[in-house]
This record gives sequence, structure tokens and C-alpha cells, in this order.
Amino acid sequence: MNTEVLGMYEKLGISKEVWEFGQNIEKELEPRFQEFDKTAEYNQLKVIHAMQENQVSESSLGTSTGYGYNDTGRDCLERVYASTFHTEAALVRPQITCGTHALALALAANLRPGDELLSPVGKPYDTLEEVIGIRESRGSLAEYGITYRQVELLEDGYFDYPAIKEAINEKTKLVTIQRSKGYQTRPSYSVEKIGELISFIKSVKPDVICMVDNCYGEFVETREPSDVGADMVVGSLIKNPGGGLAPIGGYIAGREDLIENCAYRLTSPGLGKEVGATLGVLPAFYQGFFLAPTVVCSAVKGAVFAANIYERLGYKVVPTASESRHDIIQAVQFGTPEGVIGFCQGIQAAAPVDSYVTPEPWPMPGYDSDVIMAAGAFVQGSSIELSADGPIKPPYAVYFQGGLTWPHAKLGILKSLQRLIDTGVIAKEVLTK
Ligand SMILES: *Cc1c(COP(=O)(O)O)cnc(C)c1O
Repeated sequence: MNTEVLGMYEKLGISKEVWEFGQNIEKELEPRFQEFDKTAEYNQLKVIHAMQENQVSESSLGTSTGYGYNDTGRDCLERVYASTFHTEAALVRPQITCGTHALALALAANLRPGDELLSPVGKPYDTLEEVIGIRESRGSLAEYGITYRQVELLEDGYFDYPAIKEAINEKTKLVTIQRSKGYQTRPSYSVEKIGELISFIKSVKPDVICMVDNCYGEFVETREPSDVGADMVVGSLIKNPGGGLAPIGGYIAGREDLIENCAYRLTSPGLGKEVGATLGVLPAFYQGFFLAPTVVCSAVKGAVFAANIYERLGYKVVPTASESRHDIIQAVQFGTPEGVIGFCQGIQAAAPVDSYVTPEPWPMPGYDSDVIMAAGAFVQGSSIELSADGPIKPPYAVYFQGGLTWPHAKLGILKSLQRLIDTGVIAKEVLTK
């Protein structure tokens, strides 16, 4: 069996030494992988239960055009999301174009001029800076007279409770908490930690709305932020909950009145949830959500495998090889441009789509350095699919995520290592030391 598998790896350009190095690490990770499988099992049952409870039927998988009135499949899917996240309601739409849009929608729908938005977890995700107006931008919340306050994190990356208490005032209407670290160096937060933070905030001001940016976090744990007091959870369908099948979309799950506000903002006052044709995407939304728990599990295994490979080879990895996981992102710090470039080229070479192209760094709009990106995805920009990117600037770190299946994530990481060896960034000898 092993020689047969090795033969396939060799066909895909992996040497015996790289493969054996990977095999040894995978063996050591067996107990952890079993834990991830248990989480996936629980989450799979949770999703199936939500689908059964809401009587998903063949007709739910239908489509609508035009106004999209009486799209019962769409309404049923929103109930499935609400059941899964244990919320009163949800909005799950192809008209929500991406994660940033979903977050901007949730904010704009629930804030009014004179209100204040608070981030108690430091700087939010880059694209939110323009949504909020931290960086001046057309149509930002700031232009509508919504102010913003931010409390910096403590040294250890966790919450400065006294400063948060101080920052909450009579104008504070909504608090935004980002679960995943994104491209920052702070930790990603466990659902438990988020729950503690929300409890504290509500003890200071009970009627404040707590929203969680749930991007990259869905199904990594058995609980979601909505299980620990979040009033809204928000995310992208081309990340975890789309299961790799959703070709577009975003979701917001939460309290009924808040979700109604989102619907009236997404479509129009007076129309709300009643309109919004689904144009044939529902089968992908349902099936993607059904697959999401095991897809996320594959991605988490890939992240942990990468952390262990590169930590063993002496690189700084965040999270570390042994840390608990709260999202699907893995950072590896190479310290040289060649490291970042080689890693991304290896990931690209493992892709089912566009494997023959070689990514190069380029000056991307919105970034202050060249950036290299590897993505051989079925859905453009999908980061639940195996993907990696890194800015060509110190500390020369690469951010890696996704993998629809564990064998693909494993191949991608082995290909990255192979590439770094073939280009002389990593000496072959270190594998056998
Ligand atoms: C990806 C992401 C976003 C933005 O989502 P897009 O779909 O890229 O617009 C926001 N917050 C976090 C934490 C993310 O990871």
C-alpha cells in the first residue's frame, strides 16, 4: 500500500525523503487528528439535525428569478443557518458579495447617526478600516456620523478589561469582535474567550449589540460565538460555511430584530427578506453547508501539519505546532523573500486548477509591498480551498489556509517543502537529521 501511495507522490514531484519526513510527522499527529475528527463529527450531526428539523426537501433545492418572491428554499436555508448557530434568524444570500460586505451590512443596518461602534480587540481586519472610516473612504460609517473607538490589546494579545469599561459610553451601540487574527500577530480567540468578553461588555451595558466577525472560525470548535452571547455572527460563504461549493455569498445569523434590519438594508426598506432571487445557487449553498464541518476539519489538519513540519525545520510558526486551534489560518515566518516565494509556488503546484502557472510577487492595490498569492481554486479567491499568500517584506511570513480534503492539504504542504528544497532555501540534509 505505502509503495503504491509513494509512487503517486513521486509522480506528483515529491521525493521519498520529503514524503517520509511528512509521514513521521503525520504519525505523531494521530491523536490530535482524532480530536479534530470528533469535532467534525459533532458539527456534522449539528448541521444534519438543523436540516431535518427544518424539513429541507427536494423543492428546497429549487431556484427563483426576478424578485424572488416565495423562494421557500431560500427561506428554509436561512432557518437551517439559524438552527445551526442557535439564533432566532439568519440572512444567507448570494446578494451578499463577500465577507466584508456582510460585515459592512450588519454594521450599517444596525447603527444610526450619533451611535458609536467599539472594537475592544484592537484594529479590525484591513478591509473594515474603510467600512468604518478609520481610513477615509467614500460611503464609510464615519460619513454618516457614526463614530468609532478602539481599545488596544494587552501585551499577551488578550483583552484590556478596565480600558474596555472606560471606552463604553452612552453612545456605544454596537461592539465588533473579530474571532480570527487575520493578518495580525495576536492570537485567534476561542469561543470561550469571546464568551467571557461578551459577558463583561453586557455587564457594563446590557443593551449593547455584540457582533462577531466569524470569518475562518465556523466549525473549528463545537460551539459558535452565538452560543456564548453574540447577538450577530457574520461570515463569508467562500470561506468555511460554504464548504467549497458555494460560488458566492455571505451570512449573518442573530437576533430577529437585528437580522430584519440587515434585510431592509440589503434590499430596501419595505422589502426586506421578501425579495432576492437565488438564481440556482441553493443546491451549492445547502450541500456546501452540509460538507462544511468535514471540509473545515481537513483545513485544520492541514494547518496543524504545516505548523509541525515547519516548526520542526526551525521556523517560527503562528499558532505553534502544539497550540489549540480557533480558526483555519497558519502563518509560517521564513525570514527571506525566497522562503515566501518558494512556499507559495509549491502550494500552487499542488492545485487541481492552474497547477502549471508559477505565481510571482506583484504590487497589489491596497498593499504597501509586493504580494505573492497561490490559489488554484475552483471558486475565484476562495480561501477555504488550499491557498497561501505573503507580503514580500519583513518578517517574510506566509499565511496559509484551506484545503477541501486532507489529502490535498497534505500534498500542498509537501509540495511547498519540496519546492523549498529544490530551490536550495532548505538544505536536503535537515530532513534526515
Ligand atoms: C476574510 C475576512 C474578512 C473579509 O472577507 P472578504 O470575503 O475577503 O471580504 C473579514 N474579516 C476576517 C477576519 C476575514 O478573515
